[in-house]
Amino acid sequence: MDIIIIGAGLAGSAAAWAATRRGLSVLLLEAFPAGHKRGSSHGSARIFRRAYPDPLYVGLTGQAGELWRRLEDEAAEPLLRLTGGVDFGQRRDPGRLHAVLTAGGVPAELLSPAAAAERWPGISFATASGGPVMFHAESGVLDPDRAMAAMLRLAAERGADVRFETPVTGLTATTGGDGAVVRTGSGTFTAPTVVVSAGAWLAPLAGDLVPLPELRVTQQQVFHFAPREAPAEQPAEQPAGAWPIFICQDGAEYFYGLPGGRDGGVPGAIKLGENNHGTPATADGRDFTVDPGARQRAIAFADSRLPGLNSAPVNEVTCLYTSTANDDFILDRQGPFVIASACSGHGAKFAPLLGEIIAGLAAGEPSPDPRFTLAGHRLSASQ
Ligand SMILES: Cc1cc2nc3c(=O)[nH]c(=O)nc-3n(C[C@H](O)[C@H](O)[C@H](O)COP(=O)(O)OP(=O)(O)OC[C@H]3O[C@@H](n4cnc5c(N)ncnc54)[C@H](O)[C@@H]3O)c2cc1C
Repeated sequence: MDIIIIGAGLAGSAAAWAATRRGLSVLLLEAFPAGHKRGSSHGSARIFRRAYPDPLYVGLTGQAGELWRRLEDEAAEPLLRLTGGVDFGQRRDPGRLHAVLTAGGVPAELLSPAAAAERWPGISFATASGGPVMFHAESGVLDPDRAMAAMLRLAAERGADVRFETPVTGLTATTGGDGAVVRTGSGTFTAPTVVVSAGAWLAPLAGDLVPLPELRVTQQQVFHFAPREAPAEQPAEQPAGAWPIFICQDGAEYFYGLPGGRDGGVPGAIKLGENNHGTPATADGRDFTVDPGARQRAIAFADSRLPGLNSAPVNEVTCLYTSTANDDFILDRQGPFVIASACSGHGAKFAPLLGEIIAGLAAGEPSPDPRFTLAGHRLSASQ
């Protein structure tokens, strides 16, 4: 095969999809069964947004948005639903976000808290600073479980050999350095290129092979809250007052929320998470236990800021972040190894674009930005 891909999370699944579209032969090895909940990609909902204070990511989200539509066409199923998104809170700096989006050609508007509350009565936008709320329409909810299944199905239809429950137990470069050897309990494989898209397992698996930057693995939790009033049957179009995705960064608060989809368990449930660094953990040593402090903070946030919801969570789940010091992705190649670590809590929205970038690196193309290279992270760490 041309490429061996380690890990069938969003990054690895997207790599298989994009590589097979280029006619490359792929072997994909995943340690756990399909649909497992041990990594970072499981679930029915993740935020897609263009609102970044950094023009680099504003540009990349645009490319990713186009590729989500291409993937949906190929898979003949909806994977990204646009709901619109609101950003508020002094530390979120909606004014600056608006300026960056406008400079990047992304339509956005600034609203007063009162005007925003009229449009979205389920959210309280009042902040100490009384600052504006930024709305942009090009944001919504993607479905990671369905996206991974679709990408793997399309890759397999194009000949990819996808193997679940096949953990990689060893990884080395060939003596000539013109390839790599991948060991599993069910065989040893060699290929000119090995993609390591192993999420929180990256450092244990490849830390001796390539000079990785410091990676922090944390266990995060999210909660689902039911709407106070049972929502009317969800029409196709986004009805007025329907929930947008939202990000609030004000004082000590840093929360994001979105329609939770299937995981919510009840119609119209909203997923709420805190964008902080959760409990330090390791991929194999995590305990899947929700931090009681995080639960209390989420309930307090729902109670004070989300009048449209009952403030007792209907369910909760944990998940892993793998973060770099500056939250930039690692997308680079060293010898036969392509390193794909696109997390820091914000990688899902880029999935189909990550696939293209990884397939490009496998084909010898450069990383899309020096900031994503191993050298770029070393430079950033030294500054
Ligand atoms: C709570 C939470 C909320 C988030 N919200 C958002 C959001 O709203 N928007 C957004 O854009 N992003 C969000 N993210 C981030 C996003 O989900 C991640 O960036 C993305 O899922 C990372 O995917 P991955 O493929 O790199 O990692 P993973 O999904 O963890 O995939 C790695 C895979 O490698 C496999 N593996 C590891 N070691 C081996 C081995 N030795 N052999 C074989 N297989 C192996 C693992 O089993 C795993 O399946 C969120 C993340 C969390 C945790």
